[in-house]
This record gives sequence, C-alpha cells and structure tokens, in this order.
Amino acid sequence: MTRQSTGVSDTSHRGHASDRLKGASARGGPLLQRRAAGGGFHEECGVFGIYGHPEAANLVYLGLYALQHRGQESAGIVSTDGSQIFRSIGMGQVADVFPPEALKQLKGTAAAGHVRYSTSGSSNLVNAQPIRISYHAGEIAVGHNGNLVNAARLRSELEKAGSIFQSTSDTEVILHMIARSPYPDFDDALISALRQVEGAYSLVFLTRDRLVAARDPRGFRPLSIGQLDGAWCVASESCAFDLIGARLVRDVEPGEIVVFDASGARPIRALPPAPVSQCIFEYVYFARPDSKLYGRGVNVVRKKLGARLAEEHPADADIVVPVPDSGVYAALGYAERSRIPFEMGLVRNHYVGRTFIEPKQSIRHFGVKIKLNPVRELLAGKRVVLVDDSIVRGTTSRKIVSMIKEAGAREVHVRISCPPTIGPCYYGVDTPNRSELIASSHSVEEIRKYIRATSLGYLSYEGMKAAVDTADDRFCAACYTLDYPVPVSDKERAQLSLFDKPRR
Ligand code: SF4
Repeated sequence: MTRQSTGVSDTSHRGHASDRLKGASARGGPLLQRRAAGGGFHEECGVFGIYGHPEAANLVYLGLYALQHRGQESAGIVSTDGSQIFRSIGMGQVADVFPPEALKQLKGTAAAGHVRYSTSGSSNLVNAQPIRISYHAGEIAVGHNGNLVNAARLRSELEKAGSIFQSTSDTEVILHMIARSPYPDFDDALISALRQVEGAYSLVFLTRDRLVAARDPRGFRPLSIGQLDGAWCVASESCAFDLIGARLVRDVEPGEIVVFDASGARPIRALPPAPVSQCIFEYVYFARPDSKLYGRGVNVVRKKLGARLAEEHPADADIVVPVPDSGVYAALGYAERSRIPFEMGLVRNHYVGRTFIEPKQSIRHFGVKIKLNPVRELLAGKRVVLVDDSIVRGTTSRKIVSMIKEAGAREVHVRISCPPTIGPCYYGVDTPNRSELIASSHSVEEIRKYIRATSLGYLSYEGMKAAVDTADDRFCAACYTLDYPVPVSDKERAQLSLFDKPRR
C-alpha cells in the first residue's frame, strides 16, 4: 500500500513544511499553551461527507465549519470526480486551511472532510485526515471520529506481515486491512476490516464511485444522515446540516454501514451486534447545543441536566452564572427551576488563537483570563451559583472561582451538570490520566476546599440518566462509573499511548 504524497491532486496548507520538520517543537508549543489556558477535556473529531452534489467540496467546507468545535488542530477535505481522489489538508482551523484556490482543485460531486483534535506528541500534518491511500483496487480516503482500542495489536500484526505505516493514527490500521483483504469488492473488504477492530468509530470513506458511512456496533460516537437537493450527506452532528440547508433524515444506526452511490443509499447490517453505548458526555459538553443527537435536542437535554441539578443541589443565591459556552444551557435550566435570575457574569473570548504570548508571573490567572472575563457590575456583592459541565484537574475551576470572588462576589456555589469524572475515556475523548482527575482521589468536600468554593454539588448519575430520559442503558457513562463497555486491558491501555487519537 502506498500513500500519494505529490501531484496536483494533493494540496496542503499553512506551515506544513515546518510541521514536518519541527514536530518536536510543535509539540511543546500550542498544545502546552492551550493546556495552560485551562484545558481539561478536549474535543474529539468531526466528519462530514456528501454524495451527488455539484458543489460537494464547498458544502463539505461549510459542514466542517459548523463542526469546528470538535477539533481545531487540523482539517482536510477529499473529493472525487469519478476518476481520481483529490485531497487538501492543513494544520489549523477550517477558515485558515482552505484558501479559495484549494477548494477549486477539489473537483467532483462527492466529497468528505474531517476536523481533528490531537493529543500532544503528534500535532503534525502526517496525521491530518482524511487519510488517502492508493492500493491494488484503487484509491480510498477516510475520516475517523473515535478510538480503536485494539489498534496497536492489529498494527503490530500488519507490520509483521509487511505493511508500512505512514502515520501514527489508529485509523490507518483500517485502511491497511482493507488493502490486504482477499475480497475484491470494497464493501466486503470494509466489512471484513470492521469485524476485526474494537472500540469507537464513526467513519466516512470516499472512493472514486461511492461515499460510505460506518458506525461501530456500540455507537460510541454520533453520526447522522441528511439530504440536500437530492444529495446525501453524513455528519458528526446535525448542526452541520443546518448550515447548508440539508434535512436531518436519521442517525446511522450503531453497527450500520450505509453506502451512497449512483443507485442511492444502501444500508448494510453485517457487523456483529453489541449493546449500544452512546457517549453520554456528548450531551454534557461536546456536542453543539443546536444539534440533535441520538434523537434528542442537545440544548433540551442540557437544560434538563441543569434543572435536575437545581433540584438535587439548591442554593440560597442571587444569580446563576454559567461558565460559557458549554455551561450556558445547564445554567438556564438551573435558573428556571430554582427561579434565581440568570446572568452572563462571565464573558468568553471566542477568538483565542492557537498560540499566544504567555507572560511569566505578571498576570494572575492568565491562562483562564485569556478565555474568560468576569463582569464586575453583575457579580459585585452577589451570592453566585456558578454552573459548569465538569471539574477535571480542579485547577481551572479554582482559578474561575477566585476570579469571580475578586470581581466582588460574596459567595460562589459551584454546581456541576454531571457526576464526578473519575475515569479516563478510551473511546475517543481526550482527557488527563486517571491520576490527574481530581475526583478519582478526592471527596466532594476536598474538591470544594481545593477550588475554594462556598459550596459544591455534582449532579447524580441517576439525575443525569433521568435528564437524558433513558430508562435503559443505551449510553456509555464509563468516565463517571468506571463501567467500561469495551474492556481495555492494561497492555492495550499502555499501547494506546502509541497512537495519536484523542483520548484521556
Ligand atoms: S467514557 Fe465518558 S467520554 Fe468516553 S465514551 Fe464513555 S461517556 Fe463518553
């Protein structure tokens, strides 16, 4: 298997040479600075694809724009005119990666794209997606949201059999298995490959004659189908359909592969069934509030989380203030249920770039201040309920509480719209190791003291399930319960660190 790297069909943008040559320094730069800015959970990845539209690449560009919150490290688009696959990738955000001349080169009526977040250590262009390969049966490109837990073992086996990998991405394992498959038809080769991988995947493939969407049997990560002017689209979240005027048709079901080609849309159910384990944390934090996820409006669920939180942990307070943006809807729900006025007492700067100059010790709470600024007129003299979606290490929460107090608040009652995060995720979400998660080793009271809050309350697990309105167990909540739907051995945990996929 060889991967094309030259020619008019492959364009790349924004600092590629330096990313390749200076990988080590890039690792210590923006990522560390971003973490200094208070990072904990990080976005995963977003995928978008369209089949049968004359403006395919432009629409993928817009779709990725709507999915930008799921990854800002790199972006890529592939397209096909039926004879070859064109590709354009780059480091950075969608608006910066694709100049108009790049989009013009992405010809054809089918296209797919990807936005990516990566962990430190592999912030380089070689891992940007969609990955494209040429093999004996043609060309394939793929974009992946999720994390394969057995990728290291599969990669080792493939390497022993002669495969040469171009990236450190687990996604490439799937392409090698397709390329080595004895099945001549792409759909059969794909089914055979997906039967061997374990873990989380929402995938969008592009070949010269079809677009294929696939979701793992447990449905960890979301993937939806839409329609626009007779063309089919797939996206990680429905907010991408809204931007281009497409209609949400339905989710790709867990374990389903859907092929879009000249004959229409063809669902295939060929993967072994498994209990569904959709990521509940998408509702709490990741997904955009205007998206519809697993059949529910994210904003509706988030408000219910806040309302339950108000019932479980009331506070004698003057105002309810969200930590923007992800805390806004939960705070609205809390305010409505508690009848305490909602105020935007923190303003978020949405234009924080990937790099900034960090002063030494001269500015207090600088990392948080670059993102959030307290509104003194609203906070001074007030008893504040501060609603956030999580406490990861505790350092950011501590800084925000201090900032609000310094703005004159008399009391700060912190309320978290989910249970304490006690375990890492192996299914495509990047967070710290278990030892770095404050709730894994500290009681709620100890955390309260550490963040210097007047009081602290987390939503219960039962409360979270009630807000999501699920009586059954169709959700993964392993980071709150340590009940991992796909077991990960110690060896696999260690091996996961070899791969460059969002994880924690
Ligand atoms: S462990 Fe947590 S973040 Fe990971 S898939 Fe499960 S619920 Fe989502």
